[in-house]
Amino acid sequence: MIEFQSVSHAFDGVSVLEDVSLSIDDGEFVLLAGANGSGKTTLMRHCNGLLEPDSGEVLVDGTPVAEDLIAARSNVGMVFQHPRDQFVAATVGADVAFGPENLGLERRAIDRRVAAALEAVNLAARGDERIDALSGGEQSRVAIAGALAMEPTHLVLDEPFTGLDDPARRSVLERLEALSADGTGVLLATHDLRDVLGLADRVIAMRNGRVAVDGPPADALEELEGLEVRVPDATRC
Ligand code: ADP
Repeated sequence: MIEFQSVSHAFDGVSVLEDVSLSIDDGEFVLLAGANGSGKTTLMRHCNGLLEPDSGEVLVDGTPVAEDLIAARSNVGMVFQHPRDQFVAATVGADVAFGPENLGLERRAIDRRVAAALEAVNLAARGDERIDALSGGEQSRVAIAGALAMEPTHLVLDEPFTGLDDPARRSVLERLEALSADGTGVLLATHDLRDVLGLADRVIAMRNGRVAVDGPPADALEELEGLEVRVPDATRC
């Protein structure tokens, strides 16, 4: 479980998160919606200690992030909006293997994880390719595979579908759905709910650094008006 307890955060004196309290259960699939600048990325970067609250606390599986950064970073897989910032190796396979290698796993287990993660993002058999020769969408898929290979208890993904074509998006969504069904908590930030609403247990929408909406998708949809979130046509009010 990831828990935010009265978390506030300001940049240069400007409040960006204000008294945010929420928890994400194991296996829960949560969409984080809201306009650009509403605080989604800032919220997510607190999940593994990339940012620290000015006040309040974030706990991962019961342990304060600030107390055990390594545990938080092992248990929360993060996928950022700009995958280029996330790579540590030159080739696809080496990059995806990096996290599991740091967990001290045996080679066979690492290879199994890397193969499964690459398969999930439609990059099977492309492990030897150089990351800098890939398209932006392919790089995003490598970043997602890197997070999947850690087999974390939670996955936190910030606009992971930007630049992905339909088959890749479908493949990633299917994988997220299966992981969630197996008990992985998923927190997925998006400004466009159309592809993902059917998978979600819950929608949280941010406005000006606060949680403005928090509920099951059917209820949340009615409340999203005015938050600059794209919702499925069939359900638009
Ligand atoms: P979202 O992910 O919803 O688009 P962000 O969390 O990225 O929102 O940004 C919320 C606000 O915080 C914006 O006004 C943004 O300009 C500001 N902000 C984000 N990161 C920084 C930073 N590192 N330094 C200063 N301001 C920031």
